[in-house]
Amino acid sequence: MIITQPKDFPISHTQSTGLVPTMGALHEGHLSLIRRAKQENDRVVVSIFVNPTQFGPNEDFAKYPRMLDRDIERASSAGADLFFTPSIESIYSSQPSIIKVPGVTEFFEGELRPGHFEGVATIVSKLFHIVAPNRAYFGMKDLQQCAVIRKMVNDFNEPVELIFCETTREPDGLAMSSRNAYLSVVEREKASNIYAEMQIATKKLKEQGYSNEIFLEAKASLTNLGFQVQYFDLVEWNTMKPSTTVSTESFIVVAAKLGSTRLIDNLKVLG
Ligand code: AMP
Repeated sequence: MIITQPKDFPISHTQSTGLVPTMGALHEGHLSLIRRAKQENDRVVVSIFVNPTQFGPNEDFAKYPRMLDRDIERASSAGADLFFTPSIESIYSSQPSIIKVPGVTEFFEGELRPGHFEGVATIVSKLFHIVAPNRAYFGMKDLQQCAVIRKMVNDFNEPVELIFCETTREPDGLAMSSRNAYLSVVEREKASNIYAEMQIATKKLKEQGYSNEIFLEAKASLTNLGFQVQYFDLVEWNTMKPSTTVSTESFIVVAAKLGSTRLIDNLKVLG
């Protein structure tokens, strides 16, 4: 069933509901979230909404891939029961209220994409109110997004359990992303070096402990391959602050552009 209006959404008081929020152009990463949600809930809701408020003025909102029929087919095969595909007008009033999540948005994506996490937090909160899920599923591919949503849910006592899922990768290690479709053949071949450099850096961190050289070398390798590296850093996941000590909360986080395509990825340092 496809629901397009927030007021028409059939909230269930008897069946448990898992929500998988997406912007569509579904790939195996999205489907892994849907399969997990299906295992843990009576019904699975997939929202497909290219959310304009999380795109900056010079970002790819207009060209973001849209393929609703194919998405519905794929997601249904993975176990989705209900689709929520609202129009922009049904979601946002002319002067919408927005949610701002401080602290965890200070660096990385929050710093480079002003307003992005306000857009994310606002749409996710709205989806929680519209769908009233018992559980909501998010990919660790977007690590800072997970930290933002976790803080929002805690701060607002939202009655939803958050499930953060492993990143699904292509065989060569590239994290699956709807934006990978923008890559040329040559860029696609190079793109897996992000994962390779994160692996090299995690190995060095484990063997030698933190040093700034590890990160300079990784950035230099990617730059030599033609990437424009925006950050390649160590972060504490609970605070999303840059860090110089390795702990169980440590992740390497990367954002790099190949041509006009911006890729982000991360890797847990320990375990
Ligand atoms: P998006 O459609 O890009 O907004 O992503 C929808 C959800 O799928 C988010 O929770 C993402 O973190 C998650 N996701 C995207 N790519 C992957 C991936 N490669 N593996 C696992 N989850 C992913």
